[in-house]
Amino acid sequence: MPTAHPPIVRTVAALRDLIAQWRRDGARIGLIPTMGALHEGHLTLVRCALAAGERAVVSIFVNPTQFGPNEDFGAYPRREAADVAKFAEIGGHLVWAPTVDEMYPTGFATHVAVSGLTDGLCGPFRPGHFQGVATVVAKLLLQVQADQAYFGQKDYQQLQVVTRMARDLDIPTGIVGVPTVRETDGLALSSRNVYLSAEERQAAAQLPRVMRETAAAALAGEAPFARLLEAAKARLSAVGFGPIDYVSINDAETLVPVESLARPARLFVAARLGRTRLIDNIPIETAAA
Ligand code: AMP
Repeated sequence: MPTAHPPIVRTVAALRDLIAQWRRDGARIGLIPTMGALHEGHLTLVRCALAAGERAVVSIFVNPTQFGPNEDFGAYPRREAADVAKFAEIGGHLVWAPTVDEMYPTGFATHVAVSGLTDGLCGPFRPGHFQGVATVVAKLLLQVQADQAYFGQKDYQQLQVVTRMARDLDIPTGIVGVPTVRETDGLALSSRNVYLSAEERQAAAQLPRVMRETAAAALAGEAPFARLLEAAKARLSAVGFGPIDYVSINDAETLVPVESLARPARLFVAARLGRTRLIDNIPIETAAA
């Protein structure tokens, strides 16, 4: 049953007051950071917090510092009223929706950079992106002071970066990774899927299929991985993907590219389809998630 409409808070001061009240009540708090345009993937993270008995705080903030100059900051879907309604419907407790000025007041000069984990995969293709993410997530974790914060494995490199950042900075919030929520044809839910034309949406379903088959081949011992990954790229190109930033098999913890499955590994893809950049990843062990 939906509860009362959750408050929409826009200042750090008001947020602190509300959170302090909850703490006095002895509540546990779960934070779900998002950029809005909420879909079932986001709502699954919210349900995880609720299932853990936490008061669910969703942050909705399209963070300008994680977009490159030629990326889609301006076009990114913004639909706050619909987001609040969806969040309220499943029993969410508080919407934290600061303005850009509240998040980055004049004179803002501090940045958080996580090295190593950001060297590969999306790092070189999106300069500054992970610094923008690490900085805003550090702020969100300190603003909300949640017991746990929930992130999707859909953005697996981001999850690893945030986990390391929270550990390295002794931020006491537990970071929880949640498996990717997919459409029935396997496409990972993403706010950016709204950019896809009907034709592109059909082609997009080939991405999870090629990924599953490539992961299965790697698991079956087919080698070298370089040949499997080139074949996957060729299949994606053939259905209209391009440019393909990477198709790569990497260690699930360090994110370093690997040549064998001696340790847990995942298959990662980033590729453009028309004007939409899609990213996805799956574990190799089960070739599903
Ligand atoms: P975003 O609003 O796209 O920045 O995503 C906010 C959070 O939702 C991030 O932790 C994402 O990894 C997570 N998320 C996005 N899509 C999915 C999905 N399909 N399944 C699970 N989590 C997701």
